[in-house]
Amino acid sequence: MLIGDVREIPYYYNAGEGVLSELAIPVSVGRQVIGVLNVESRRLNAFDEEDMAFYTAIAGQLGVALENARLYQEVCRHADKLADALTKLRELDNLKNEFIQNVSHELRSPLSLVRGYADLLVSGELGELTSKQQEAAQIIARRGRMLSELVEDITLILQAETRPLAPTPVALGDLAHAAAEDFQVAIERAKLKLRTDITPNLPWVNGETMYLRRALDNLLANAIKFTPAGGTITVRVRQQGDYVVMEVSDTGIGIPPDQHERIFERFYQVDGSSRRRYSGVGIGLALVKEIVETHHGHVAVESQLGQGSTFTVSLPVSKG
Ligand code: ADP
Repeated sequence: MLIGDVREIPYYYNAGEGVLSELAIPVSVGRQVIGVLNVESRRLNAFDEEDMAFYTAIAGQLGVALENARLYQEVCRHADKLADALTKLRELDNLKNEFIQNVSHELRSPLSLVRGYADLLVSGELGELTSKQQEAAQIIARRGRMLSELVEDITLILQAETRPLAPTPVALGDLAHAAAEDFQVAIERAKLKLRTDITPNLPWVNGETMYLRRALDNLLANAIKFTPAGGTITVRVRQQGDYVVMEVSDTGIGIPPDQHERIFERFYQVDGSSRRRYSGVGIGLALVKEIVETHHGHVAVESQLGQGSTFTVSLPVSKG
């Protein structure tokens, strides 16, 4: 609004000491008027249409600036809230890790005792057992071993997350040969065949043997678990560019394509009544991923339902 003489408008008169003319331009954000830009003069008819256009443009800019400032404040408030939530989440995550670590620690000693005595019973060192007793003792021994492995996996996954690696040069070929040998009995017992295709004299990778061996063990244990009798498990190790690539293939039940990502999540298991009979809690592959990624490598799966699966672990060749 352009007012050449404020005295003509009683509402404006006395508005400001000595003010005679005035420009009043609404300042808006979107459609909402949030204020008025007042330009006053002690002269009569101090403003014309050109001034009006000029100050209208300024009022427009002012609206944008005020809105930006408001949005900025809002973003800051949200950022603060998010930071608080993140701190709380971290605290909770630490508490959870501490709790799991404590529980795993407390489970270890009684479990090793249970396993020790079960093995003694099975071996007959504590006296001859009837065939029923022998069977029961074997189940206790087997289940005890599975529980120990689970506790070990949980402990390792937390360690891999929190403890920095102490890497040394590792020969993945030797590691794979040793694992294949150790699994021979389990593979025969499951009526499977094992093939190895390991390139000799591969370059080293940098890593912790214990972790890498655990990753391979978990892949092999899964391959055995999910492959029906008569199938074949193949372990391949070769160089591919700057990586040493380790593959565990099976001719087992396979994994549906929409689950290929999710099986690497902690505690995730492919659902389906046909799979209910398989034991496990869904932490093995999460540990494999954690270990491989801590070693700056990556793990992938290719699989077809009913045909089999191939898990590929690629680790960078040691530069040192
Ligand atoms: P777990 O074996 O304890 O269930 P894992 O994390 O090792 O947990 O595996 C997660 C899931 O991925 C398994 O429950 C299974 O459904 C699927 N899976 C893993 N390896 C194989 C495999 N070689 N063949 C078919 N399914 C597999």
